[in-house]
Amino acid sequence: MDCVFCKIVKKEIKADIIYEDDRVVAFSDIKPRAPVHVLIIPREHKETLDDMYAHTNDLMGAMFTAVRRIASEKKVDRSGYRVVINCGRDAGQEVSHLHVHLLGGRAMAWPPG
Ligand code: 5GP
Ligand code: ZN
Repeated sequence: MDCVFCKIVKKEIKADIIYEDDRVVAFSDIKPRAPVHVLIIPREHKETLDDMYAHTNDLMGAMFTAVRRIASEKKVDRSGYRVVINCGRDAGQEVSHLHVHLLGGRAMAWPPG
């Protein structure tokens, strides 16, 4: 499968991997939109949030546990951070491998464009 994030999981493409466990890999976004911009992805290829069924709820738990761990390690847990999942075309999802954006280190506007 020609998926850039699967290639990062398999270490076929270089990435600044900052956390990994048996279910989750996290790495710095190549085009950071904030001082801290980390992507947290499942090792297993899932196209969008909409492909997460009830039996994969524990995977979502693992991903959000990783989000909190990384927010703490990057020292944005106190100042605050934003967690974003773009799902599908209207949300502007560019890479079709489910990923959680963790953004922090600056004040952010709301709502997103
Ligand atoms: P989306 O718009 O799909 O929610 O976000 C995709 C994100 O993946 C973008 O922020 C983009 O900068 C990032 N990205 C795309 N290709 C690569 C890559 O090869 N390496 C890394 N580290 N990030 C990537
Ligand atoms: Zn993939």
